Order: sequence, then C-alpha cells, then structure tokens
Amino acid sequence: MKVVIIMMLIFGSLVAKAAEQQQDLLVHKKISDHFYLLLDGDGANIGVIIGDDGILLVDTLLPAANQYLLQEIRKISDKPIKYVVNTHNHQDHSGGNQFFAKMGATIIFQENAIYGQNAAYSDDNTVNYSHLSFKNKFSLNYGGEEMRVHHESIHTFDDAIIYFPDANILFTGDIYNNNWLPMFGTDGVAGMNKVIDSMLEMINEETIVVPGHGDVGGKQLLRVFRRLCSDWISRLNKLRKKELSIDLIVEDKELNLIIQQFLGVKENAGIDAGRFKRFVSRVVKDSSNESKPPYSIELDKLSLYTGHYQLDDNTQVEIFQDKGKLYVRKPVEFMAQLLPRSVTHLNFAGRTVKGHFSFKFNKAGEIENVMMVRQGESYQVKKL
Ligand SMILES: [Zn+2]
Repeated sequence: MKVVIIMMLIFGSLVAKAAEQQQDLLVHKKISDHFYLLLDGDGANIGVIIGDDGILLVDTLLPAANQYLLQEIRKISDKPIKYVVNTHNHQDHSGGNQFFAKMGATIIFQENAIYGQNAAYSDDNTVNYSHLSFKNKFSLNYGGEEMRVHHESIHTFDDAIIYFPDANILFTGDIYNNNWLPMFGTDGVAGMNKVIDSMLEMINEETIVVPGHGDVGGKQLLRVFRRLCSDWISRLNKLRKKELSIDLIVEDKELNLIIQQFLGVKENAGIDAGRFKRFVSRVVKDSSNESKPPYSIELDKLSLYTGHYQLDDNTQVEIFQDKGKLYVRKPVEFMAQLLPRSVTHLNFAGRTVKGHFSFKFNKAGEIENVMMVRQGESYQVKKL
C-alpha cells in the first residue's frame, strides 16, 4: 500500500511537471473577449486586439521568438495578423516586423524609426515591407477599439505612446519599465517628468498601464515611478558632486533603497551587480556631460549647419533643426541631438552615439572644412 502511494506521488508529480512544461510560454491576461495581453516578464509586453477580419498587435518580441509569439497568439485566435504597432524601433519590440509583414501585416511606427540602428530594413535604406508611419499622432479604429497613438522622444526618437480609451489600457513602451532603472532622453529627468505627466493626465485610476517590460501596473504605480525618477537622479547628483568613485556610489544606502522601490512591483527582484555598476557609471557620465549648458547658437545662425552632408565613405548624413535644437540623422544607423560646445564644435548628445562634428569657417563665414567623428572613426565631410 505504502509503495503504491509513493508510486502515485512520484507519478503525480511527474504529471504535474509535464503539465507545467505545457503551460503558456507567455502570461495571458484576458481583458475582454477581443483584447488580450501577452506578458513576457523580461521580454516585451504584447497587446493582442482581435477584430472581425484579423488581429492587431502592439509590439512583437525579438526575431528569434517569432514562432513562439505566433504560437501564443494562435491559442487566442487563428485570424490573420493585420497590423503591428511598434512602441519604438528596438528589436525586442519590433523584431517581428519582417515576419508578420511577410504574413500580410501592415507595420505602424513613428517615422523616426527608420533612423534606428536596430530597425530591420533592406540594403537600400528603404522599408521593404508594407507599413504606415506617422509624425505626431495616429489613430485607428479596430476590433471595436479606438487606438490613439502619439509621439514622444525619451527612450528613443520614435517612442509611440499607445492608448486604448475604451479598453482603458495604456502602452508606454520603454519610457516606463517595471523591471529595471529608467533611462532619460536628452531633456533628462525634466523631459521624463513632462511625458509622465501627460500620461497621467490621459488616464484614470482604473487604467491598466502596460510598461515596455515588467509587470502591468496602474496610475498609482506610474506616479510612484515619476517620484522615484526624480529621487534617483537627485541622489546620484549629490553623490557625483562629492566626487565619489562609482564603487562607493553603487554602495550608497539611500540609492539602493530607491532601486529596491523601482523594482518593488516584482517580488524578490534580483539585481545583477556588474550590470548595475555599468548602468550607474553611464548615468553619472551622461549627467556630468549634459549638465554643462550647451553653447548657444542664435536661431538664425542654425541654418549655417543644417543640410545634407556627404561622408568620405560615400554615405550621407543630414543635420536639421527642430524648435531651435540641432539633430543629425542617418537612415538605419542613428539619430542624435547635437549639443554645440562652441561655434565650431557640435557634440552628439546621449549615450547611444558618441562623437562630434568640427567645422572650420573662412573669413566670410562660409564652411571651409567639416569633420565628423563617430564611435572613434573620423570622416571628412562635404556639405551638399
Ligand atoms: Zn527599448
């Protein structure tokens, strides 16, 4: 009898294990009969909206996970994928674009996504699949849901904030994550606060807030996140001003308390010490670079710099201005703000692209010579 019971226990636990292995690979959260969330913990969070003739997806996963994502979608519906809307160009959100476009989907993204280096495009720098792009705003009615999308530049230059007012669900992309520390755009914590405030204004206490990564939250957690962003940067700045080493900064008790709260929605969130140290040193470096106010170039002088430039490797970059700020961009590779350090020196701002432009002007104030340094490579540049 005893043996039988033990056998049953062993067999029972094997059955339980097999059942566990067959469990969904992504957490399925059903909002309504036609609105689902597929949550991947550390991977991107996906929205699945089922319409009469197909499916609209908010984001995808990495290219390697395309089949796995499709398999999860098929557990909900076998309709064709009609649309994929990207919160931004990073591959862990847009890595399924090609795959789903090949199956007939139209991909929707903010137009700056074509300057993202992770974007999957053909060799001639054109988007080689069916797509719709927008500049400021985009809206669509699908599956009985209104979808309102608007553009921000915090995490990337093509952040799309996606709101479904009827389902009352907000997708923030990687501007707001629940599993790691925040990254700020070139307007720093002030820019972040402004965007979070605009999100808070759009939503109510019942809204489901879906971060780019990490657990789903709501308006209250988003408020907490806003406060933590300010606390985090002001503590870091205090420590930075004391000229402490990164080793000492990462051990600061107050700083670690703030981090625990960032990750607080995730129980027992572990934090990789090496990754954390690299992250802190990058934030400290960026904030000390960007805390120096840029040299101010008069508005009517900005056109001296703007235009298309030919590099000596036969590719082109464009410098343009928007609201008095200078930017540089090159399809498929990069987009960055340029921070003037003098009349002749423009630095790439931010953490993704390191480099600068140096200009030489003749006595008549015309460009005599231009150099671009990017990621350690120097280019001779000609204005076109
Ligand atoms: Zn991202």
